[in-house]
Amino acid sequence: MRVQMNEQQLLTAFDDALKFGHIYAVFQPKMNHTTGRMIGAEALMRWADPQNGMQYPSDFIPVLEKNDLVYRADLGVFEQTCKFQKKCLDEKVNTVPISVNMSRYDIYQKNYIEEIEKIRKKYDVPVKYIHIEVTETSAVGGMELLKSVLDELHSLGYTVEMDDFGSGYSSLNVLKDLEVDMIKLDMRFLSGNIGGRGGTIISSVVHMAKWLNTPVIAEGVETVEQADYMKSIGCRYIQGYLYSKPLNPEDFRKKLEILEHEPVAPPMDLISTMNARKFWDPDSIETLIFNNFVGGAAIFTYQNDKLEVIRVNKKYVNEICANMSEHEILAADPWAGIDDENRKIYEDALKKASETGEEVKCEIWRNVNSKTCGTDRICVRSFIRMIGRTEIQQLFYAMVQNITVEKQRYDEIYNSERRFRFASEQINVYAWEYTISTKEMRPCFRCMRDLHLPPLLENYPEPAFEMGIFPPDYADMYRDWHKQLEQGVEYLEAIIPLTADRIPFHVRYTLEKDENGRPLKAYGSAALVVDDIK
Ligand code: C2E
Ligand code: CA
Ligand code: CA
Repeated sequence: MRVQMNEQQLLTAFDDALKFGHIYAVFQPKMNHTTGRMIGAEALMRWADPQNGMQYPSDFIPVLEKNDLVYRADLGVFEQTCKFQKKCLDEKVNTVPISVNMSRYDIYQKNYIEEIEKIRKKYDVPVKYIHIEVTETSAVGGMELLKSVLDELHSLGYTVEMDDFGSGYSSLNVLKDLEVDMIKLDMRFLSGNIGGRGGTIISSVVHMAKWLNTPVIAEGVETVEQADYMKSIGCRYIQGYLYSKPLNPEDFRKKLEILEHEPVAPPMDLISTMNARKFWDPDSIETLIFNNFVGGAAIFTYQNDKLEVIRVNKKYVNEICANMSEHEILAADPWAGIDDENRKIYEDALKKASETGEEVKCEIWRNVNSKTCGTDRICVRSFIRMIGRTEIQQLFYAMVQNITVEKQRYDEIYNSERRFRFASEQINVYAWEYTISTKEMRPCFRCMRDLHLPPLLENYPEPAFEMGIFPPDYADMYRDWHKQLEQGVEYLEAIIPLTADRIPFHVRYTLEKDENGRPLKAYGSAALVVDDIK
């Protein structure tokens, strides 16, 4: 028979309960859902009263807290955990780190950490076998205090887990200020709607945690759906009834012997110059730079052909997807609107960026949909750099430019040039284009073929003399023509003996000006002088 004890009964029974082991620890496994291996466990307090049966933490812990007794109970759990680990080590049972809860009342207890160190040393348990869970509500008592506790625990070598993340106070702001080694996300705080807002919160926490290089474990996981969802957003660590209820020490020891174990892996190996913690801080210089000074930029992960955009700045939105919100961009499939050919170009660039560690440039065409303008085809130039990697995933930073207009103009010029080159092939003349500002000359196909000219001659007309196409005694005159073109003379013509054979040609230039009347281009032609025209 189980009877819930009232406050007075609990307080009266407390000393004996501690002394005789009515208050004891049970252990709940923490698992890697992708490998099925155990990564650790959590010690949870139980109170089995000889008369009233099992008492649960939610009932008695608030009473202990209120009466300033919880630290004694916590030290009891800590001691039993050390005892358990010591026994495993002595008997060569391959054990995992077990985390012990530290209440926020323990934090106010000045010598609490001293006490746990005494116990750990008494049992001679290496610090790597004990982790500490602190709750984010501890921050309520002041960040400074919590920070100093974390520093002290770290300096002693403890791994610290942030418990109940997302339960209220902390959110993302606490994370960036506190150096925790693992984040525990409680699924029960986000009950039910994984696909909705809850899901968005979870996935943004997981993303951010990845960025802070901090592993995340989901606790309170009861169903395969929940576990699979967490896996799909990149959180593979799970604690909950799905795998196991908290077990008494004997049963937990059996689990240790049956299940394989593995250590927790850091989520991301960030390139050292990046400071992810600062990067996520909305007030940091890094964020300021990302948002204001770098042009359009995006950060995304790449894993098994899957791209996932995790952060974009405002300029990215303006540049690429002016009609989408930042949130819509993060939610959309980044491959949407990119055909196979362009996708291949992009994937090759990612591969190269990952292999070389250098910045890689690539240009692809993609369709973007907007409610207002329908589908648009745009050309995007990206400069891609890999900034982090794990065994299975890479993290990239891309600066983007929408170069659609530039590209279209280039295509126009390219096409008109092609037309021009083909046209001169049809009529019996040599033709070329001369660009005034750059002194570049582009010959027609016939020139290229008959006179072995390259597609582009620089510093024209000098190469014409060097190559012997123009005779030296005409050089000064021909140079003078180009000066005249520069000054805006619209038409020039003369008969000039050309090529090595000095055949007389009728050479003409016509000038094209821009809308302001400035010389732009000159079109040159050379036609054989035929006798009957003379
Ligand atoms: P907590 O630290 O968040 O512990 C996780 C709680 O979730 C445990 O409840 C665990 O039994 C329960 N749980 C685990 N998997 C599932 C699941 O799949 N579904 C559901 N519904 N629950 C699951 P428990 O043992 O009742 O502990 C409740 C709370 O009491 C703990 O929450 C912790 O805040 C506190 N507590 C437990 N043991 C200790 C302790 O040794 N010291 C201190 N200071 N607090 C403790
Ligand atoms: Ca806990
Ligand atoms: Ca928890």
